[in-house]
This record gives sequence, C-alpha cells and structure tokens, in this order.
Amino acid sequence: MLAWKMPPRVEPLVQLSSADTIDHYKIRKLSVSMGLLTHLSLLITDLDHTLVGNDGSLDLLNQVLDRYRQTIGTKIVYATGRSRESYQDLITTQRLLVPDVLIAAVGTEIYFDAAETLDSAWVDELSHNWCREEVVTIASRFADLESQPQSEQRPFKVSYYLSPNVAAAVVIQLQELFAQQGLDVEVIYSGGRDLDILPRGGDKGTAVQFLRDRWQIDPAQSVVCGDSGNDISLFKYGSERGIIVGNAQSELRLWHELHPVNHHYLAVADYAAGILEGLQYFKFVE
Ligand SMILES: [Mg+2]
Repeated sequence: MLAWKMPPRVEPLVQLSSADTIDHYKIRKLSVSMGLLTHLSLLITDLDHTLVGNDGSLDLLNQVLDRYRQTIGTKIVYATGRSRESYQDLITTQRLLVPDVLIAAVGTEIYFDAAETLDSAWVDELSHNWCREEVVTIASRFADLESQPQSEQRPFKVSYYLSPNVAAAVVIQLQELFAQQGLDVEVIYSGGRDLDILPRGGDKGTAVQFLRDRWQIDPAQSVVCGDSGNDISLFKYGSERGIIVGNAQSELRLWHELHPVNHHYLAVADYAAGILEGLQYFKFVE
C-alpha cells in the first residue's frame, strides 16, 4: 500500500446553488477538502452510458477528478468495450480527461499513457489458453449471432450482436459448447445487444486487479463505475468502492441485487451525476 502524504486542504471546488445544474439530482456543493476525506487514489470508469451521457455532469466530474489528480496524483482509468480506434472516435466528440490507462475491448487490451501498443505483460496473461479460431467456429453455428464490424473483432475478443429475446438461452448454450470443447472463455452479454467472447480472465475486472497490483493501490482508495453487463466484472473480484449509475442496465442491476455488499452503491442519478453522487456517498467528495 502506498503511504500518501496528507495533502493540503483546498477550497471547495464547485459551489452550486441551482438544483437544476445536474439533471434531477441536487448537488448543491462539491468540494475536495482532502484533509477530511477519504483519498481517491484510483478511479476506473466505463465510458458509454456511465461517464458519458450528460455533458453538464461530465464537465463537473472532470473538474473534480482534475483537482484530485493535480493535488494527490489520482490515477484515472477508462475501461470500455470499445476498441482503441472507437475510443479515439469518441474523444473527438466528448470532453474527456486524458486517462493514465485505457482498458479497451472489454478488458482484453491495456494501453498505458499514450502508447499505441498493447501492454505486453497483459498480452502474455491472455495468450495462455486462447484459441480464437475455435471460438469463431463454435459461435458460427448460432444463427442468432450477428457478427459485429471488423473494427470490434480483436485479437482476444470475438463480438456479435444478439437480440435480448434469445440472449439468455444462447449464452447458456454457448457456455455449454465451449466447456465441452475444453475452451476456457467468458461469454459476456451487455446492454441488450452486445455479446463478447473473451479468454477467461480477460475481462475489465481482472484488468483492474492487474493494474492495482502493479501500482500497489489500496482498494479502499479505489473506485469502479459502470452501467452494464460487461462492467459486472469490475464489481466482482476486488473490494474497490463500486458505483452503479442510476441508468444502469437490467443485467447489472440484477447482479447487484443478488450480490449486495456495503462497498457497492446504486446511484439515483444518471451517468456522471451518478458517479458524483457515489463519490459523495463514499466520502471522496463532500
Ligand atoms: Mg457502458
């Protein structure tokens, strides 16, 4: 665990008097008065429909995180289902802070800083027990699976679209077939649309544990945020503080209902306002 020096107390970051500033959620004051609060050392967030979704609350959260980063060096990690190329499309339209690390392709790719190459240690982790061709062969037997564009087909991820009406049955059948063939993979369904097949241990949550180990950051000073099925792994493995935004998809809500723990929080507010609400709940901001 890192021994953080006590940072200086700072003035409230933002003073809001209008309850309308963030939609439907009354954040009247946000401050990062570090002397009184839990230190936020690491924030990991999904992008689409978690961090990204409402421009006003995103701007406010960016201010909070930037203040944290400048004051105590908080690390910011984006964990997205998007490919790196698709992430770069997103940042042309959204005002996002530059992350310390980008976890892309549902966890199967880790990029440090501005590096364009995959982290080789993570590639080694995923390479052991993965046979992409066999996965594709088995999945091709399912007429309900529609292949996603080539840009989303990655070295350690095979991706399809799948209707929510048949998703539960198809996922079970796929898992059975993969197990029969001795393929140790994860089948992840998200957002009522995306079905991703990854090497076991290639998900977002395992990628986060990999980073936390490398950086030696206390889980009690770490926060994970998400909204859909491919974020479940963020909440599943460690004891990081978890924020589920108010607009979360049913698969993540159901998982949360079945696995209630005190260090996970289901926000009322949507998108980045939900993250802010969770940061207040866990006393990272006040
Ligand atoms: Mg999402």
